[in-house]
Amino acid sequence: MKTPFRLGTPLSPSSVKVMLLGSGELGKEVIIALQRLGVEVIAVDRYPNAPGHQVAHRAHVINMADGAALAALIEQEKPDLVVPEIEAIATPTLMELEKAGKATVIPTARAAWLTMNREGIRRLAAEELGLPTSPYRFADSLEELQAACKEIGFPCVIKPVMSSSGKGQSKIDGPDEMEAAWNYAAAGSRVNAGRVIVEGFVDFDYEITQLTVRALGKDGKVETHFCEPIGHVQVKGDYVESWQPHAMRPAALAKSREIAKAVTDNLGGLGIFGVELFVKDDMVWFSEVSPRPHDTGMVTMASQVQSEFELHAKAILGLPVNTALRAPGASAVIYGQHEAKGIAFEGVAEALRVPGADIRLFGKPESFERRRMGVALATADDVDTARVRAKEAAAKVKPVKA
Ligand code: AMP
Repeated sequence: MKTPFRLGTPLSPSSVKVMLLGSGELGKEVIIALQRLGVEVIAVDRYPNAPGHQVAHRAHVINMADGAALAALIEQEKPDLVVPEIEAIATPTLMELEKAGKATVIPTARAAWLTMNREGIRRLAAEELGLPTSPYRFADSLEELQAACKEIGFPCVIKPVMSSSGKGQSKIDGPDEMEAAWNYAAAGSRVNAGRVIVEGFVDFDYEITQLTVRALGKDGKVETHFCEPIGHVQVKGDYVESWQPHAMRPAALAKSREIAKAVTDNLGGLGIFGVELFVKDDMVWFSEVSPRPHDTGMVTMASQVQSEFELHAKAILGLPVNTALRAPGASAVIYGQHEAKGIAFEGVAEALRVPGADIRLFGKPESFERRRMGVALATADDVDTARVRAKEAAAKVKPVKA
């Protein structure tokens, strides 16, 4: 990898070109961070006018799960870096292109491939790295699911192996719920694989995201940096609220970082990772990892000196990073609440009058009732106050049909 890059001028022969695969709210912020460094950015998504499309030098609309279309676009644009922002992309194609020296994928094509499938990352964490996880089994049919549930015991959590953000996921308390869970998983699966993971339910005290950054040090070697832990609340597998720092017992924090280091060392490359962990007393379980900014990490736009998006942008370019906390902060999601195109937002001024509050509206062309359309951010002297402020600000923003 020719890092650190010599930064240049966009749209000229000296430009450093970065292609984002996925241009949602997280990609949009990575793009803005790259734009600030004079990087030429190509934003790709499956629908026109995605948030990141609106702030990039060029925008493309393709089905990123279509390997041939993806390879053709990379061949056409010849980016210096390919940065996946979502899971549902043709990762085998990225592995081929990387192997042939035709693309540098962030953090690595293998990391993108392993983490798009719950089976890949779970087997790596539990079986290869020996990290603590919930007990688990995989199943390809209702019969296998029934056998897996009996082995794991109840309550357990059923998830399609190819899904994210809680889609198709259910917690079941007994055998009579198994068939409904199987059908729900099949409907929520990203591809029609029909394969599920059955996980033992972890009765955790709280869950955190440990943002972990792999960046180059002065000597050109990769260094691992940790952000302060982020606490969050999930409803139906979707994050609704997050805050930073989350108070932790020192032993649990040390264990969390040990796990995060082990996983990110193995995945390799440069950039930020969101390591999701469950914590009970001093016990920590690895749950998942995103080899990219994490949605719960949007709080860092308020709480850190450099947001997770700036950290990612800098790290992938081979530049130094600063993971310091600026102030205790919180984020609260603003949902669309309507099924409509081109919605408007009322109450923004009132939201911004909440002390320490700020907002981001993502500019998504179409709203759904439970679609994330924006986020309220807040800082305060302590996390509890920041949480109250972020929720208050989010509640004041009222999406309306235009
Ligand atoms: P996931 O899509 O795997 O990140 O799961 C979404 C959320 O569901 C997590 O953030 C947890 O709140 C909850 N969850 C997932 N798996 C388990 C488990 N094995 N035990 C308890 N809660 C879980």
